[in-house]
Amino acid sequence: MGEMKHILIVEDESSIAENIQYALETEGFETTWLSEGRGVESLVRSGGADLIVLDIGLPDVNGMELCKKIRAWSSVPVIFLTARSDEIDRVVGLEIGGDDYMVKPFSPRELSARVKAVLRRTGGRDKNPAELSAGLSLDEERCLVSYCGRALDLPRYEFGILSLFITHPGRVYSRDQLMEMVWDDPGMSTDRTVDAHIKNIRAKLKKITPDIDPIKTHRGIGYSLREDI
Ligand code: CA
Repeated sequence: MGEMKHILIVEDESSIAENIQYALETEGFETTWLSEGRGVESLVRSGGADLIVLDIGLPDVNGMELCKKIRAWSSVPVIFLTARSDEIDRVVGLEIGGDDYMVKPFSPRELSARVKAVLRRTGGRDKNPAELSAGLSLDEERCLVSYCGRALDLPRYEFGILSLFITHPGRVYSRDQLMEMVWDDPGMSTDRTVDAHIKNIRAKLKKITPDIDPIKTHRGIGYSLREDI
């Protein structure tokens, strides 16, 4: 058994929140309920949420704005709750970065199923990449990697390599594996190509932290993202 997944429910209507809590806990999830947006960011920062069920109409903040803010530094999955079906095109996709949505009224069991599906789909994501991955954070929806809070300008293979490292800190990838997972046409490249991209990435990180190299070279094997810094 893996550890219990923790679902953060942000919903100002207590009857809805209670139904959701009941359905999710029946399915074996841990839940926390907040009735407003305040406190959500600090809870996510502390690693206390594997997924957020986020109402759009909150008393203190618009759920979409809150999601955009969180997306700047975390890729924690978000399922939106909305009373308005005309909002749904905006919430799931690039602009807001939601992973799924439910239009009220909905069945709490259906929501549980969506929660499971989203968790399965986003399984490799860190709940708080900035903390877990050596100062690097990944915003998948925007295809953006930040290092120590600064966005990096990365061509696509460099972005691909770093994304892989961030979502799997400590895991060692051989050059072949990196090519296989990141390149469209791995046959066209050689080990040296991977090395060249790693060198470019290191140079960009070094500009920000001259004394720290978050990428570890495993001689004769490959590369990993260091977990010990
Ligand atoms: Ca509401």
